[in-house]
Amino acid sequence: MAFSPLVDELVESLRCLPGVGQKTAQRMAFHLLEKGRSGGERLAGALAQAMTGVRRCETCQNFSDTPTCGICEDDRRRNGTVCVVESPSDLLAIEQAGDYRGGYFVLMGHLSPIDGVGPEDIGINRLLQRVRAEGVTELILATNPTVEGEATAHYIADRLDSGGADRKILITRLAHGIPVGGELGYVDGFTLTHAFRGRKPLAE
Ligand code: ZN
Repeated sequence: MAFSPLVDELVESLRCLPGVGQKTAQRMAFHLLEKGRSGGERLAGALAQAMTGVRRCETCQNFSDTPTCGICEDDRRRNGTVCVVESPSDLLAIEQAGDYRGGYFVLMGHLSPIDGVGPEDIGINRLLQRVRAEGVTELILATNPTVEGEATAHYIADRLDSGGADRKILITRLAHGIPVGGELGYVDGFTLTHAFRGRKPLAE
């Protein structure tokens, strides 16, 4: 049963959100119409503004309201280090950890031949150009420790090795392993294997 074309359209529109099916979309729409009108109006305004105003930073590809984002504009962060991540949420997680003070490059995905995502789709040529132009000395490949993330990291490293860069650039990968405060007995085999391979002398 349909209430009105406007309600139907609202429900259908909400279904574009990840993890939102028909039932959840209905619940959201009814909530907004019943008791969330001011919130709904704010949401509508913010959505409209974000959809037209948010672009991709010309340097790092992250979301930005301006042609260059705040991090790329910050001279102190142009220190020769660029950290490559798959998504803006990965960048945020690193920023919130608060220890890293270099620049970023946000791929907005990873290589995935099955889904038709190639190097051009995630801006790898742009990344290589930037590495050359900015005189980057260390490239941290912080793609996810998944099959696709590893493949993407290796692809970028290979391109840099095979003439993508004029100088020798330190290419690093994030260490992964046992969570701080974790117990070995609860760690899965894959993680434990990585932790073993990435072991370091005790003095470090
Ligand atoms: Zn940027």
